[in-house]
Amino acid sequence: MAEHDVIILRLGYRLGRDPRITTHLALVARALGANRFLFSGDEDERLPENIASVNQRFGGDMIVKHIKSPMAWLRKFVKDGIDGNPPGIAVHLTMYGASYRSVTPTIRRDRPLVVIVGGAKVPSEVFQVSQYNLAVGNQPHSEVAALALFLDGWYGSGSVETTLDGGELIINPSNTGKDVTDTK
Ligand code: SAM
Repeated sequence: MAEHDVIILRLGYRLGRDPRITTHLALVARALGANRFLFSGDEDERLPENIASVNQRFGGDMIVKHIKSPMAWLRKFVKDGIDGNPPGIAVHLTMYGASYRSVTPTIRRDRPLVVIVGGAKVPSEVFQVSQYNLAVGNQPHSEVAALALFLDGWYGSGSVETTLDGGELIINPSNTGKDVTDTK
């Protein structure tokens, strides 16, 4: 079966308040196997630039993009599919959701996946359009932690150890210190 896109959709990005945590979300998404990161709200060219620079040094090709109309995008993703792909599966991470541990294994894997992470205020339509509203425990905590645990569950443990292709630097895992091969 062909590998399908795993996309992260970060809603309601705010310049000034969210750059650091949203960069952390994108880094976690990249390191744990997602291949696209979309954000709505304020535009910020630094986000795609930062991740492109990490890709250049450490490999991988995760694309970061701003989208103006996330709800229109989400409706199309679920109903018709995006970019010629089949209709996708939307998982909204929310503390009000059902247990991600029990539900994740039941989600079909032959479709593109979008994982929606909220910002300051999540439109109620997100709950309706998403096929799954999943909680990583029913307490408020961090979107970074929620995304990391969900992706770990989705890919299975081991995804965090993956080396990404094409980087200038290759980290050789070491118990005693930094061991990095510079291929430049
Ligand atoms: N309202 C806060 C603010 O103004 O910055 C942030 C809300 S919360 C930290 C942001 C997102 O984290 C939520 O929309 C959800 O996607 C995710 N989140 C937080 N706790 C969660 C949980 N227990 N399970 C799943 N996702 C969670």
